[in-house]
Amino acid sequence: MIQTTVEDPTKEYTSGSYPNQEQPYPGLQSRMTPIPNCGEDTYKGSGKLLGRKALITGGDSGIARAAAIAYAREGADVAINYLPYEQSDAEEVKKLIEDAGRKALLIPGDLSDEAFCEQMVDQANQELGGLDILALVAGVQHAYKSITDIPTTFLHKIFAVNVFSLYWTVKAALPYLPKGASIITTSSVQAYSPSPDLLAYSPTKSAIVAFTKGLAKQLISQGIRVNSVAPGPIWTPLQVCGGQLPGQIPNFGQSVPFKRAGQPAELAGVYVLLASNESSYITGQIYGITGGLPIA
Ligand code: NAD
Ligand code: MG
Repeated sequence: MIQTTVEDPTKEYTSGSYPNQEQPYPGLQSRMTPIPNCGEDTYKGSGKLLGRKALITGGDSGIARAAAIAYAREGADVAINYLPYEQSDAEEVKKLIEDAGRKALLIPGDLSDEAFCEQMVDQANQELGGLDILALVAGVQHAYKSITDIPTTFLHKIFAVNVFSLYWTVKAALPYLPKGASIITTSSVQAYSPSPDLLAYSPTKSAIVAFTKGLAKQLISQGIRVNSVAPGPIWTPLQVCGGQLPGQIPNFGQSVPFKRAGQPAELAGVYVLLASNESSYITGQIYGITGGLPIA
C-alpha cells in the first residue's frame, strides 16, 4: 500500500499572491494564471459513485469541474451545464470524464431561463438514463464598491442564476429523482460574513442556505438528501471576471487563517461525500471549506 503524505495544509497548493488579471464574464479557466487545480492530475477514485448519474451545473471550470472529475473517477456518468462561451473549458472536462471511462454529456445554456433549466434536466435524465445526483454549483459574482453602483438589471440576473435556477432545476428533476438521490447546492462563507463590496452576491448565498435547509426537511420524506457546500476564497474564473474589485486579485485569499486561497481540488472530497451513500445520515447541513473562516 502506498503511504499518504502528511503535509502542512497552509503550504499546500499555491500559496502567496496571484498575478493581477481580469477577463470578461464568465471567463475561461484556460486563460487564468496560474490555471486552477481541479484535481486533474491527482484525484483518485475508489468506486464510491459506481453507476450513479450526476448533473453538475457550472461544470466546465472551477469548483464544479473538480466535482465533475471526482464524480467520474468515482464511477458516475456526468452531464455538465455551462454557458456557450465556455465551450473550450467544457470540452476539456468532457475528455477528463471519458478518460475515466464514464459517459460525458455537455449541455450548454443559460440558467436564468426557466425553460432552459427544464430542458437541461430532461436531456440529462434521458441521455444518462436517469438522474440521482444534482450538484448545483453554477453562480455569478460581481463586486461593487457601493450599493448605489448595483444596476437593477444585475440584481435580477444574479438572483435568477444563483437562486431562482435552483427552484426551476429541482422542480424539473423531482419526478426523476429516486429515493437515495442527493442534491448539493453551493452557498458561500459570504452567507455568514458578507463582504461590503459583495452586497449583490452575499444575499443570494444566504438564500441558498435557507433553501437547502428547508428543502432538506421537505424532501427527506421522499428519501432525498439535500446539503450545501460553503466555500471560502477559491481560485476560480469567477474571481477574475469582476468577482473582486479592480486590483484586489493579488491579495485574494490572504486574509483567511490559512493565509492562502483554496484550489477547487480541495472541495472535491466533500462533493463526493455528500453525493455518496457514505453521507446516508446527513441532510440539511452546510459544509464550510473556507481555510479556517467560521460559518455560523
Ligand atoms: P467558476 O467561474 O468556475 O464557476 C461558475 C460557473 O457558473 C461558470 O463556469 C459558468 O458555467 C456558470 N454560470 C454563470 N452564469 C451562468 C448562467 N447564466 N447560466 C449557466 N451557467 C452559468 O467559479 P467557481 O468559483 O467555481 O463557482 C462555483 C460556485 O462556487 C458559485 O456558485 C460560486 O458562487 C461559489 N463560490 C465560489 C467561491 C470562490 O471563492 N471561488 C466562494 C464561495 C462560493
Ligand atoms: Mg466556467
